[in-house]
Amino acid sequence: MGFGISPRQPETDYNVPVKRILLFAGLGIVLLVIAGAAIVGSAFMGRQAITDGFEINGIRIVRDGFASVAVLPMGEGEVALVDAGNDPSGEAIRAELSRRGLGPEAVKAVLITHGHGDHIAAIPLFPNAEAMALAAEVPLIEGRAGARGPLTRFFPPNPTGIRVARTLQDGDTVMLGQTPVRVFAVPGHTDGSAAYLVNGVLFLGDSADATTEGELRGAPWVFSDDQAQNRASLVRLQQRLAEEGAGVQAMAFAHSGVLIQGLAPLAAFAQQNP
Ligand SMILES: [Zn+2]
Repeated sequence: MGFGISPRQPETDYNVPVKRILLFAGLGIVLLVIAGAAIVGSAFMGRQAITDGFEINGIRIVRDGFASVAVLPMGEGEVALVDAGNDPSGEAIRAELSRRGLGPEAVKAVLITHGHGDHIAAIPLFPNAEAMALAAEVPLIEGRAGARGPLTRFFPPNPTGIRVARTLQDGDTVMLGQTPVRVFAVPGHTDGSAAYLVNGVLFLGDSADATTEGELRGAPWVFSDDQAQNRASLVRLQQRLAEEGAGVQAMAFAHSGVLIQGLAPLAAFAQQNP
């Protein structure tokens, strides 16, 4: 009547290892997702917060979500920007221009630290702005090439409609009105990542971050083309600035707050990364 022990089905022997394999595969995927989330999360953890409206030497930091933009006065009714943020509607930048009684046409130049989308989004809003970047960064900014980082490589290149009007070289000095801007190549986060020194403030874009402890740390691996090159570029930059007595008073970062200890945080970084 079928109440006895039913004979083992041949597939039962087969199913047990399959279930075990599926279980381990599932656990593996879960662990990979957790590890991935931890790696991406660590890039954001421990960063000193961006202070909206922070001013130093006539330069003002404008927070645009998780990115920042700097506004540099160029002369009567004219400004330049360092980067143009993450927001294509440029709300935070336009609010800052309005506060100064200016409109979008007052922006005469944008110094681009690098071509990731969260630093260039509002550039098309400024009809008179001359976009400037290192030559090596132009394809990424214009959307003709993609980035090569562990995560950024999955974002296919897309035409941005942005045209870099002036290509810069390492060591250039650009005049914004009466204000000289020194240009330094710091490849690694991207091929054409630039640092700019203006009025004693060194803009590092995503090539470095300020930690909550007030230390400088390099670009996060997961978003960077070449982390080792980024570290080497920061060390070399420190040597150059120290040798020429460049008069760095502060360092500004695209995703973290301004450090006002001169070159010291970069010198400490260089000492830890010989
Ligand atoms: Zn970036």
